Amino acid sequence: MTSEKRSSQFYIDLEKRYGAFNYEPIPAVLSKGKGVYVEDVEGKKYIDCLSAYSAVNQGHCHPRIVKVMQEQAETLTLTSRAFYNDKLGVFEEYITNLLGYDRVLPMNSGVEACETAVKLCRKWAYLVKGIPRYQARIIFAKGNFWGRSIAAVSTSTDPSSYKDFGPFVPNFDLVPYNDIESLEQKLKEENIAGFMVEPIQGEAGVIVPDEGYLKKVSELCKKYNVLFIADEVQTGIGRTGKMLCCDHEGVKPDILVLGKALSGGMMPVSAVLSNNEIMLTLKPGEHGSTFGGNPLASAIAVESLRVIVDEKLAENAHVMGEIFRTELKKLTKHRVGAVRGKGLLNAIDIIPFSDGREAKDVCLKLKENGLLAKQTHDHTIRFAPPLVITKEQVLEATNIIRKTLEEME
Ligand code: PLP
Repeated sequence: MTSEKRSSQFYIDLEKRYGAFNYEPIPAVLSKGKGVYVEDVEGKKYIDCLSAYSAVNQGHCHPRIVKVMQEQAETLTLTSRAFYNDKLGVFEEYITNLLGYDRVLPMNSGVEACETAVKLCRKWAYLVKGIPRYQARIIFAKGNFWGRSIAAVSTSTDPSSYKDFGPFVPNFDLVPYNDIESLEQKLKEENIAGFMVEPIQGEAGVIVPDEGYLKKVSELCKKYNVLFIADEVQTGIGRTGKMLCCDHEGVKPDILVLGKALSGGMMPVSAVLSNNEIMLTLKPGEHGSTFGGNPLASAIAVESLRVIVDEKLAENAHVMGEIFRTELKKLTKHRVGAVRGKGLLNAIDIIPFSDGREAKDVCLKLKENGLLAKQTHDHTIRFAPPLVITKEQVLEATNIIRKTLEEME
């Protein structure tokens, strides 16, 4: 295989020839990134409005994170948890102090961390709550997305996620999202151990629940002695204008799940946080991962969090998000239906064109005009740029969106 740069089509054809067809990418072949911009192999520059599904909150190739990564990569990368290393404890101390939990369990991808939360919840149910062994039930919200493992797709209401992948994991229940009454009804049933929920449903199309929803969820979970598990893999680490999306309502989940931007997009790093009563139900040998808590990931995670704090990126997400949505709302005369979001996790619904073109076609045209975004389902486009975005860059993005929709009319 040559290392010489070829055309975009060359790389697309390579993937089409040798890769599985489990994705349908926008045809931009990216080879560089810096801050909010990425560049394709022909040198065309784009403003990135996806941030790798909110994994690159700190901006592409953030120099501080790159520096730590390079230094640590030359020093020590992986030891496994068969031994201690001199970076994991530092990360554990930093993140638990920052977010106010007793303990953290490091994993790699988001789905592994969510699965860890589910296992931890079941353990707690048997060892602390006293649910009869293997009877524990966990509630999820319809429209949830937490990855692609068998457990994750067992809770999915999206046929493209679960169809033909059964049999599914039992004892997972579903309630409508943003519906407190249905949740309370379910919580009254026997053997309920936990409720896992996204504070804003990202993949479902940036569905923002009513104000007060999370507070009521937290109160109800306490009332029924059920663990409130917040999946903040997409909403966490500054994305919605606070360090955690739960901070908007001042609630603290019993189990907090983080991923994606925990590494600033450098490598898969995820984490599950809770207090002692829950975390200490796990004993040596009962859970783990070869790469989880490795020194490279640990060093990167500390720097990635420090960048969010030092550069006030949650605050910036709040201010820039307001401007972004204000500008998007001006586009409602151009086939933009609903505009929703919080901080820099935003989405618009596209009213389908009379000739059948929809959100996907808008994304293709946005790409031609120098902005990268991806549709979710048929009608929604998410706009989630890196949190380092400036006001000028927000206006650059919204101008491209306006121009694109005008051209498509
Ligand atoms: N949870 C949420 C809310 C997500 O949005 C995602 C991914 O998009 C995941 C979990 C799974 O993360 P990963 O793709 O790193 O496994």
